[in-house]
Amino acid sequence: MGKWDYSIFWQEALNQLKTELTEQEFAMWFNMEYENSQESTVIVSVPSAFYRDQVIQRYQNLIESVFYELSGQKITVEFEVKARNKDLVSSELKENQESRKTTKSELFLKKGAEAVKRTEHAQLRKDYVFDNFVIGENNSFAANAAIAIAKNPGLAYNPCLIYGGVGLGKTHLMQAIGNLAWKERGNKIIYITAENFTNEFVNAIRTQTTQKFKNKYRTADVLLIDDIHFLQKKNETQEELFHTFNALYDANKQIIFTCDRPVSELKNLSERLRSRFERGLNVDLLPPSYETRCAILAKKMEQRGVNIPKEVIDLIAKNISSNVRDLESSLTKLIAYFELTKKPVTLEVAQQQLRDSFGSPRQNNVTVDIIQKVVAEYFSLSYSDLRGKKRTKAISFPRQIAMYIAREITEYSTTELGIEFGGRDHSTVMHGCQKIEERLKAEPSLETTIQKLNQLIKDYNS
Ligand code: ADP
Ligand code: MG
Repeated sequence: MGKWDYSIFWQEALNQLKTELTEQEFAMWFNMEYENSQESTVIVSVPSAFYRDQVIQRYQNLIESVFYELSGQKITVEFEVKARNKDLVSSELKENQESRKTTKSELFLKKGAEAVKRTEHAQLRKDYVFDNFVIGENNSFAANAAIAIAKNPGLAYNPCLIYGGVGLGKTHLMQAIGNLAWKERGNKIIYITAENFTNEFVNAIRTQTTQKFKNKYRTADVLLIDDIHFLQKKNETQEELFHTFNALYDANKQIIFTCDRPVSELKNLSERLRSRFERGLNVDLLPPSYETRCAILAKKMEQRGVNIPKEVIDLIAKNISSNVRDLESSLTKLIAYFELTKKPVTLEVAQQQLRDSFGSPRQNNVTVDIIQKVVAEYFSLSYSDLRGKKRTKAISFPRQIAMYIAREITEYSTTELGIEFGGRDHSTVMHGCQKIEERLKAEPSLETTIQKLNQLIKDYNS
């Protein structure tokens, strides 16, 4: 036994290959045993020379590409013919593992070991299960359909399309179906993003392995394709997916897609593929209500075994309304803060730590228009005056506030903002923002006003 040991890594590669090949194929050709490793080489034994020649021809490239995917390193596989006495081989293997010395490859092994622990199914996230998915009014129809599908793949609703905005749980729900069907029924589940599906297909054309590509996808029991909006303009991939779809559909195999918008709004998609997507069940995910947001945060705390004061949860739930991913990352930020400083996460700490996330324009579709309306109303001005040319003090101060907020929470440039505020020059906008910044230093109460306005702007959207 030398200093390299990729045995756990080999095991992980096998796990992955198992999901990619048919059961029959896997059982037939992966009757291989790990033997030993050298630098960048894994040596496995096979029962005969015939077998060796076959697997070299059929699977060597595939195995090596999985190695590459798993490790990011070029690792080759070598086959050795060995008549077997199973017991001996496995006890030898155990011994080898026990007497392993700590070497550079240990690090690598640990990575492998973690991967084995972390993944049940090579492509599905273990934590994307129904138990971790909070059901609220916004998603109950989609979630219940998903559960029904997982229990009866191919029968209940086929195909199924889940659509909705970024970070609303499409991938989570889709993978939850995969995880359940995989665990309870042992189905062959393939999860892939539309982007990777496209890449793989292009690669298959390049390497003249389209048959293998077809076999892989057309033998799934459940095919999960995430983010199909990516397929817009990818004509050849659309064509291929159309045929994959038909093969699976005719065989009563379950197909699930996600998309960031209703299919009717996709452009550059072939009509026949569009009609396939629309067949079956289309369900949407909406942004969660305040109560659901609190429940999701509670769930995430439970999952991570942390406890954060109720008022902090409330603060997050109030400020982040349209994206569960952002909700979650706020929590992560606070947990990180706690772990680094060991100081309790108070309301003040949370406010300070999360200021940027609350201001981020990504989580709500704040337009300058909305800001202007809210600020005008707050200061009892007319919207047109706030946008207009008048320069009385009663108007210019609120206008500067609106500019400042717009600068903070949208991605408009000062030039664009100038146009929005009565066709002014960008330097006027910059000047306005500076004025507010100066005043903020002198009178802290202005900060409260601005926070209030930010809140009103957020509420305007929900
Ligand atoms: P999408 O694919 O729609 O962009 P994801 O499925 O990646 O969104 O979800 C983003 C994050 O939010 C994930 O970590 C997911 O676990 C979490 N999430 C979304 N919806 C819920 C929910 N209803 N309950 C619990 N977690 C959720
Ligand atoms: Mg997703």
